[in-house]
Amino acid sequence: MSETRTAVVTGASRGIGRAIARRLAADHHVVAAARSLDALEELAAEIRSAGGRCTPIELDVRDPEAIARALGAVEADVLVNNAGLGVMKPLVELEPQEWRAMMDVNLDAVYHVTRALLPGMLARGHGDVVNIASLAGKNAFVGGTGYTATKHALIGFSESLMLEVRDRGVRVSVVLPGSVDTKGFSSGADPSWKLRAEDVAASVAHIIAAPRHAMISAVELRPSQPRPHR
Ligand code: NAP
Repeated sequence: MSETRTAVVTGASRGIGRAIARRLAADHHVVAAARSLDALEELAAEIRSAGGRCTPIELDVRDPEAIARALGAVEADVLVNNAGLGVMKPLVELEPQEWRAMMDVNLDAVYHVTRALLPGMLARGHGDVVNIASLAGKNAFVGGTGYTATKHALIGFSESLMLEVRDRGVRVSVVLPGSVDTKGFSSGADPSWKLRAEDVAASVAHIIAAPRHAMISAVELRPSQPRPHR
């Protein structure tokens, strides 16, 4: 194992993924993946100016071949599957391409990215996979058919994989945040009651800092501020 551990973070160009990348950069070489290369370059410059290491990778996680090309040779100690999107609409208004995008990014990509990095972790007998699901993976709400389906599935995926690899040195965890104030999930209303992206990043850092004989396999993170009347 190299001295500086390597953490791959998907969806690192903004929001929760960017906060996770910044937080893990304190003690990891961060491989930051997303489609927005400019934003990744800016993140990498910020991390480098603070003395850390960051490699930006332009990657559309809907493309399995691009994932294999970009990540196949990376020796990851940590993988954070964070990239995701939510299109909240009644089912009859949800377009096939919107449904497809959620399935591809929130679920299929987790399979492909994990499939690229997990064999190395198993071979080295060491690794952490942290999947960013949502409380929408336990709950239902109007307009959430596609999104909740992906997050319910991601929790099942995470728990099955956790059981599959836990006795081979690889820990698998799933984080279920409630509402987080990010661009991708903005409602336009006052967001002051919501979690901040940095709160999710702190949970991820806590998960991977657990002693190796222990595994925080799931975290539910909820806002604790009163929600303003709407
Ligand atoms: P966000 O601000 O919209 O950020 C989403 C990230 O995913 C961006 O970096 C985006 O990068 C990346 N992404 C989207 N499609 C991609 C693709 N095809 N290929 C590669 N990267 C892609 O959203 P966020 O709130 O930070 O959400 C991050 C994760 O947290 C998601 O899985 C979301 O479901 C989960 N979550 C969010 C909340 C919330 O309330 N915000 C609550 C619970 C869980 P590019 O556009 O540059 O590719």
